[in-house]
Amino acid sequence: MKHSFQEHLQRLLGNKLLLKINDNRSTMLSVKWEPDCTKVSLHRIFLDAPGNVMEVLACYLSQKKDSVPKEVRNYIEESLKTLDYSHKVDRSELYTTGDCFDLEELYDQVNHEYFSGSLNLLITWFGKKRVSKSQRSRLTLGLFHDQLKLIKVNRFLDTQTIPEFLVSFVIYHEMLHHVCPSYVDAKGTHRIHTKEFKAKEEKFRYFDAVQQWMGENQNALFD
Ligand SMILES: [Zn+2]
Repeated sequence: MKHSFQEHLQRLLGNKLLLKINDNRSTMLSVKWEPDCTKVSLHRIFLDAPGNVMEVLACYLSQKKDSVPKEVRNYIEESLKTLDYSHKVDRSELYTTGDCFDLEELYDQVNHEYFSGSLNLLITWFGKKRVSKSQRSRLTLGLFHDQLKLIKVNRFLDTQTIPEFLVSFVIYHEMLHHVCPSYVDAKGTHRIHTKEFKAKEEKFRYFDAVQQWMGENQNALFD
């Protein structure tokens, strides 16, 4: 597989090629143009790339351009969505039990109620329980790591003054990132909270209560 792939790229490139196929999460494509050869590290996603992407890639590799062509970037972006590195997550580093909320329990409830228990994602607390006022304006309530299939909920929510429905909503929001993947529109804008996403978000049972609570307490949380 790798051999014929290299031959194929070599033929398109018409230059000496030193190819490495990698399987790490950060290097999708890296190139070093040297006088006598081109050194390339490609993520394994390129082993399945269609012909037109390969041609654009070969053209890029042979011309020493500054920016990666759009077709190649789109291909990387699409492929990233299908990558699953969840097996690389060290489960002993996931913390779900909190002082007030058990993330696993809330996740299971949300998964059951909205997704018929079909989602299989990891979840953990992250960050510090106490944050200074100056840090609060930059706080992220939750995160979703696509390739790790991992939801992270900010630990500062693990306190008595936070209603349970808010924590459940943060979890639900991050789960929707898995269900409604982002995309790049025709103008090249990366759309993350899509129309479909927002419509689904409103289906949350306590959506109005969340909005109201945020409206009344956002200052206390974030200022
Ligand atoms: Zn989001």
